[in-house]
Amino acid sequence: MKRKNAVSPPDLEHAAELHPPRERSVVELAQSSADRAERLLAIMMALAEPMSAREVAELIARELQDELGAAAGAVIAIAPEGPGFQLLSAFGFAPEIRERFSHIPQDAHLPINTALGSRRIEVFDDVAELVREYPLLAPTNVRNHGTLVAVPLFAGDGERLGGISVQLNVGGHLEQDDWAVLRSLANHCALGLERSRLLDAEKQARAMLERSAERTRRLQSVTAHLSRALTAHEVADAILEESATSVGAHTAAVWLIAPAGDRLVMLGSRNYPVGDYYRTLPLDTRSAAGDAVTRGEPVWLENRAEYAARYPTWEERTRGRSSHEGVPLAIACLPLVIEDRRLGVVALSFLDDHKFEMDERSFLSSIAQHCSQGLERARLYDVERDARREAEAARERSSFLADASLVLSSSLDYEQMLPRIAGMAVPAVSDLCAVELLNEAGTELDLATVAHADRQVQERMVELRRRLPLRIDDPGVAAVVARTGEASLFSSIPETLIVGAAQDEQHLALMREMRMRSLVAVPIAARGQIFGTLTMASLEDRHYGPADLEMVTQLGLRTGMAIDNTRLYRQAVQAVNIRDEFLSIAGHELRTPLTPILLESQILSRLAQQPDIDKVRQRADKLWRNAERMGKLIDELLDVSRISGGRLHLHLQDCDLRDVVEDVIARASDEAVRAETEIRLQLGDPARGLWDRTRIEQVTSNLVGNALKYGKGKPVDVFAGARDGRALLLVRDRGIGIAPEDQQRIFQRFERAVSSRHFGGLGLGLWIVRQIVDAHGGAITVESRPGKGAEFAVRLPLAALR
Ligand code: ADP
Repeated sequence: MKRKNAVSPPDLEHAAELHPPRERSVVELAQSSADRAERLLAIMMALAEPMSAREVAELIARELQDELGAAAGAVIAIAPEGPGFQLLSAFGFAPEIRERFSHIPQDAHLPINTALGSRRIEVFDDVAELVREYPLLAPTNVRNHGTLVAVPLFAGDGERLGGISVQLNVGGHLEQDDWAVLRSLANHCALGLERSRLLDAEKQARAMLERSAERTRRLQSVTAHLSRALTAHEVADAILEESATSVGAHTAAVWLIAPAGDRLVMLGSRNYPVGDYYRTLPLDTRSAAGDAVTRGEPVWLENRAEYAARYPTWEERTRGRSSHEGVPLAIACLPLVIEDRRLGVVALSFLDDHKFEMDERSFLSSIAQHCSQGLERARLYDVERDARREAEAARERSSFLADASLVLSSSLDYEQMLPRIAGMAVPAVSDLCAVELLNEAGTELDLATVAHADRQVQERMVELRRRLPLRIDDPGVAAVVARTGEASLFSSIPETLIVGAAQDEQHLALMREMRMRSLVAVPIAARGQIFGTLTMASLEDRHYGPADLEMVTQLGLRTGMAIDNTRLYRQAVQAVNIRDEFLSIAGHELRTPLTPILLESQILSRLAQQPDIDKVRQRADKLWRNAERMGKLIDELLDVSRISGGRLHLHLQDCDLRDVVEDVIARASDEAVRAETEIRLQLGDPARGLWDRTRIEQVTSNLVGNALKYGKGKPVDVFAGARDGRALLLVRDRGIGIAPEDQQRIFQRFERAVSSRHFGGLGLGLWIVRQIVDAHGGAITVESRPGKGAEFAVRLPLAALR
């Protein structure tokens, strides 16, 4: 028996011979032929519609069953993605067999491959032989079937398309017209498969076209978004959104090289897994992102295994930290480079294996390029904007300084100018401006003016300061500046500064509410004297720098000058007033003795006609006393000009203070009598020194004179002698006394604590006394209580003992 028979598909003569037709009536034959023709026509019609390869195969398989009564059959076709075949449709086989032959290698030893090789229909009658020849068929149920026919299928250009395998029941055979049907079905199947292949190719081409159109659209959209993106963050947002959606990436992120150039810092991300862990990445080849930047080339990793193989240490490091752990992961990292300058990297990851096709790679590369350009543009924009802002700020600063200087020079009333300056500073150059001035004693800082962007806060600041005076030794910035005379600049204000400066809870709350972000405080000073502190603070995004410090320092100096000028002016006015008052007092004082002098001299000249010696002596006495008083006043005036001009010359000689004082008291006895006052002199230990005797006499007589004048006629005690290593002169009265606030003042020129109406005098005596005592290297002090009298003490250095 023949093992197999080969039949050339276009010529089925031999096959017909092998299976001689059964005897059938002509009518039967004609009828069945007509039916068949009709059915084949229907199949042709059906196949004319566009169908997938599988649909074609199923249709053919059905016909093999229906038309040829095949026991089993299969249609296979070249798999679209590989060199082998795929099973498109089968019948008469157990599911596991279908499964086993779902994919058939190109070179598998099977009847269909034999047929494709010989390009003929192969017929196998002997099943046992068949199984021996093709051991791969052994486990199938071919054994239960009869003849097997393998029909190769070729495309119009002769390319292999696949094949049809038909098995008949045991004992079954194909009639002549069955062969015709089989041939026709094979032809239709080949046509159908070829058409579906073309359809697929066309579909694929269209899909590719659509994909590339979609990418072009995405690129356009990226460009459009980028054109509106001004900051680096906006650039990142525009890029991440578009690139991730267009390639179906799960996450996307952009990192930039840190200014120090040592690491990558995340700029933006989309759907990124864990918070802080990926914020910074090392700039080296250990991670995919770092590697892409370091080498300046994209890194494509299509699955996790590739990743682990290439970056084993990183895989190790992220273990247990990355929420991507254990997820099949594909990653693309594209360096961001502009003109050979590395900027950073954009990374996209997929929660699955991902094949990066060429078109996708070039799409992502051009996205990265756009991103680089966008970032560069943002950088240039930042530079330009900063420069513009700085120029604008400089202009604001200088125009503010010019305006403020104008205000400061416009008047001599700084109390009224300061609020105007503060009001101009807010909001032109700051959100808070405060001027604090030292009080006269230099112990506290008074809030001279404050302006705050928020009126309520401003009012509360004023109120708080009223409640809590700011002492000069306070740790707060304003006090430190006033104390040290050194300016302070805080570009940003640390919380510790606020907490450290807070005087109490309420103060702390207020300072927090003030929301100061940046602060500059400078001394207000002139001619080496500090008057206080000028503080400016910003509340939101304005951060003060050296240029602001310079501006505020200038303002501090100008304010200091204005305050100094005002104070000098006020002192000058006061001096002029004092001088005017003094001149009127002096005129009055000089006139007082002059009047009796004139009167007495007239009387004397009248008395000269009938001289009465006693009367003449009396009058001459009075005249002498008044002339002496006038002489004293004139001497005082001369002394003032002498001392002020530095022409107080001392004629030092060895003398005992006790002698000097005794002499003066003796000479003052007349005066004491007239004042009806008892002078009690007590002398102590010898007190010798090298002094200008006349000047020490002047000191004593001045003090004794004052005691008589202001002593209300009560006894005056005088002590002279050595005590505690110094020569001591004490003059004590029990008169009107001196108020504490006047006790320093009375030693100054023209200063008096009494009205000239009640007590005559130029207010010069004590000043002269102090100048003389000072010139001798001594000291004068006073102790007094109003109404209880006064005690003046003069201490002079004793002569060194020989
Ligand atoms: P004057 O010529 O006014 O006395 P002084 O320089 O001697 O000038 O004194 C200055 C001021 O000091 C006086 O005007 C007076 O107010 C006060 N004063 C001086 N000595 C006494 C005293 N012993 N008791 C009370 N007040 C005095």
